[in-house]
Amino acid sequence: MSGRIRREKDCVARMIEIYCHDLHGGGLSRGGPGPADRLCEECRGLLDYANLRIDKCVFGSRKGTCAKCAIHCYNKTMRAGIKEVMRHSGPKMTYRHPWLSLMHFLDGFRKPPNRNNRNT
Ligand code: SF4
Ligand SMILES: [Zn+2]
Repeated sequence: MSGRIRREKDCVARMIEIYCHDLHGGGLSRGGPGPADRLCEECRGLLDYANLRIDKCVFGSRKGTCAKCAIHCYNKTMRAGIKEVMRHSGPKMTYRHPWLSLMHFLDGFRKPPNRNNRNT
């Protein structure tokens, strides 16, 4: 797994973690790398799903941010879920996880591959 993909997974995990903590009473991990822990069942399902989509992304390590993807492979329910998480946690990431937030912001400038640039 490339460093960027690992960072992207960490970023998603942290956003879901903040969301779960604020809305569902989930626990916050104590910082540092690693998967979010103490999520509620629903948020754990969303995190597992997001990680699976990243692992199976047709663009591989060349992927841009999912928010700017031309395909958007998430199913309707999970897409709505992750959008809600981003809306809630996105602004909080800048002070809770400034480095991840900055890198995610910069990743947003990567030119997203189009549908014809798939790995498969
Ligand atoms: S296909 Fe698009 S939405 Fe799905 S994981 Fe890859 S970049 Fe994200
Ligand atoms: Zn939750």
